Amino acid sequence: MPAYDPSNIFAKILRGELPCYKIYEDDKAFAFLDIMPRASGHALVLPKAPARNILDASPDDLAHVIKVAQKIAKASVEVFAADGVTIQQFNESAGGQVVFHLHVHIIPRKIGVAMKPPASVKEAPDVLAEQAKQLAAALR
Ligand code: AMP
Repeated sequence: MPAYDPSNIFAKILRGELPCYKIYEDDKAFAFLDIMPRASGHALVLPKAPARNILDASPDDLAHVIKVAQKIAKASVEVFAADGVTIQQFNESAGGQVVFHLHVHIIPRKIGVAMKPPASVKEAPDVLAEQAKQLAAALR
């Protein structure tokens, strides 16, 4: 497996070099909205520590990310009045991974609404800003 590459886009977001629609941060994890959501409110949670994916992450970092994913899933259901939540996590290109810093997708779902294809539609900045505000407030 290739080594972790600190020039990936999520590493740049973690270092504050690129903007994001932040929803949550603690000492070990960081979460923001996906800018090309597969469903409205699609969020991503990452460990702050460098890890390419589940194959090289420390078990403790992974466990913490999943705990935060649960927190965000519960907040998403409340904020977006979702009927369910899809959790996804991809590993290496063959596993569907595109950005090589470990992340878990939290996708609020409504009955009868199919997920959009990956990276198909960029959400409007004002929509993302408002959703991030609501989710961050629910996560406080
Ligand atoms: P994957 O690596 O396949 O698990 O997915 C990477 C995800 O990152 C996709 O859902 C993209 O829509 C999302 N994405 C790519 N660039 C950004 C960005 N700058 N901010 C937020 N999400 C992004």
